[in-house]
Amino acid sequence: MSSSSFPIASGPLARRQRRRAVISYGDRQVVVGGGAPVMVQSMTNTDTADAIGTAIQIKDLARAGSEVVRITVNSPEAAAAVPAIREQLDRMGVDVPLVGDFHYNGHTLLNDYPDCAQALSKYRINPGNVGKGAKRDTQFAQMIEVACRYDKPVRIGVNWGSLDQALLARIMDENAQRKEPWPAQAVMYEALVTSAIENAQRAEELGMDGNKIILSCKVSGVQDLIAVYRELANRCDYPLHLGLTEAGMGSKGIVASTAALSVLLQEGIGDTIRISLTPEPGGDRTREVIVGQEILQTMGLRKFTPMVIACPGCGRTTSTVFQDLADKIQTYLREQMPVWKGVYPGVESMNVAVMGCIVNGPGESKHANIGISLPGTGESPAAPVFIDGEKRMTLRGDRIAEEFQSIVLEYVQSHYSKQTAA
Ligand code: SF4
Repeated sequence: MSSSSFPIASGPLARRQRRRAVISYGDRQVVVGGGAPVMVQSMTNTDTADAIGTAIQIKDLARAGSEVVRITVNSPEAAAAVPAIREQLDRMGVDVPLVGDFHYNGHTLLNDYPDCAQALSKYRINPGNVGKGAKRDTQFAQMIEVACRYDKPVRIGVNWGSLDQALLARIMDENAQRKEPWPAQAVMYEALVTSAIENAQRAEELGMDGNKIILSCKVSGVQDLIAVYRELANRCDYPLHLGLTEAGMGSKGIVASTAALSVLLQEGIGDTIRISLTPEPGGDRTREVIVGQEILQTMGLRKFTPMVIACPGCGRTTSTVFQDLADKIQTYLREQMPVWKGVYPGVESMNVAVMGCIVNGPGESKHANIGISLPGTGESPAAPVFIDGEKRMTLRGDRIAEEFQSIVLEYVQSHYSKQTAA
């Protein structure tokens, strides 16, 4: 390799130039595009008609860090509940903007339930589910008219599971006229991108401010998503919402979402993300928020919560002490963040290392703000603690976890308090 290739470049490509959309509620403003940090959003899975249950889940998602929360508005009962959900959130001091997800009957619900239309901060419109034939254009126009009336932004959210069939037929006809027709996959990509852009342009023709339109084109395959968004990013400058739809459960959902979104984010594509994980039965919905944050934070795009660096463990660790400690500290740090982020500015940049033995323990711990190297098999039962690169103390006994947590708290209080920062 030539030495002229140094210094080695790092980081994502420059963000693509996008328009700037604002989703607001009261004094809270969430900016999407226009160079704003990539925003994390989520969606509830409660019955929206259950106002209290939905408000509680929204509060949990917001507390976990969701900057916008989407709720399905699928029935008159759901639409009627939206103002009550908003009021309940206000009573709980939760000012996260709400997005209404509309399919099939959105034009009717938005017209019949003006308090719902007003309480929402954004509408998601799926152009494939707005209506069929002549009704389609009319009903789409009705939704845009309500958005304009209440001055709300919209997301034109195309999904290949519900692609506008008339548009797909048109693109297929155009393809059949080509001397060398495109493969079916390329036709599908073209239909997705065309649907998003044509509907955005149609909304602007209907009077919508172009700075109030966000686009998405969700598919469930990693390579499909990357291909579609690259094309979408090249063809328009609306802010883009990224998400691998129906990503799936457990590690598969996380891995697939991470693989797809990382490639796009690295290329400077994407202004807001949602991780569409299927929760395990009884699982915690906030996981999708945490995964979204972790994707952005591990890529160095944003900082949300102190990161715990932990080794995987190996034959040198014969007990679960270090796994328990890594888990406890990670959970502790995340649980503190809703309070800490207001009291200890910059704490989200902190790194904590929890290592299993002397092989990499001291070295890795020295790179972190605080690190602990637990004793591996055959080592004396002592755990040196490193603070800002220097060994400061050694913990022993069966209260190592509690003592280490206290050391972390003291570090946070002494290094990130507002007075210290000032
Ligand atoms: S730091 Fe020690 S325990 Fe952890 S993986 Fe490396 S050798 Fe194994």
